[in-house]
Amino acid sequence: CGIVGYVGPRDSQDILLAGLARLEYRGYDSAGIALIDGDGSLHSAKKAGKLARLRDELLSHPIAAGTTGIGHTRWATHGGPTDVNAHPHLADDDRLAVIHNGIIENFAELKAELIAEGHAFRSETDTEVAAVLLGREYRAHGSDLVAAFRAVARRLEGAFTLLAMHQDHPGLVVGARRNSPLVIGLGDGENFLGSDVAAFVEHTRRAVAIGQDQIVAITPDGVTVTDFDGAEVESSPFEVMWDA
Ligand code: GLU
Repeated sequence: CGIVGYVGPRDSQDILLAGLARLEYRGYDSAGIALIDGDGSLHSAKKAGKLARLRDELLSHPIAAGTTGIGHTRWATHGGPTDVNAHPHLADDDRLAVIHNGIIENFAELKAELIAEGHAFRSETDTEVAAVLLGREYRAHGSDLVAAFRAVARRLEGAFTLLAMHQDHPGLVVGARRNSPLVIGLGDGENFLGSDVAAFVEHTRRAVAIGQDQIVAITPDGVTVTDFDGAEVESSPFEVMWDA
């Protein structure tokens, strides 16, 4: 399973697919990507099976080019390996996308809470609970994606590397981690996120490891790391010392 995120000037689709290919060694059963295009609308594609199936899907049903994107390979824990259960999971009228590696242990309780409020679910995954919760918190936090994401991270128990983006905020990808890895790749006018450095090492060797219970927001020319309460934390870049 693997995670990759990109913000910058380039079309992100090939960057995401190449990053996911580099994470294939970890094993997976499904793959998907989401992009925000130049008009600020979100597009996604996802397929059970190998990355080749996602590539075929993107050839037969192309999605718009976008310079902000997230990509995921899934190792199913909650819900079988189907197209619907593959990530990204969308919410807020399909305007936001979420990908996740790990297990959200309190998903059943959160899902019951959201269903009681009238929210609908499409998949059997624990992950979709984080997506729907983020949609709710996004509204509650006056469309502040980072603040909403922090509120979601505080509610989740278990293990997660979680990335999200919203079409109202092109050029922004947010990430959170608890008991699961997340690394920033620092580029020049572009930035990356990966569940490991393999996701972006062909583009940059300058990396920053995100600490336990931290949130990161990347834009093409900035990176901000905070704890789940929003307090900024110190993070120091390191050089990736292996051959791409
Ligand atoms: N628990 C999530 C799911 O089953 C994520 C699994 C993963 O780590 O890929 O969809």
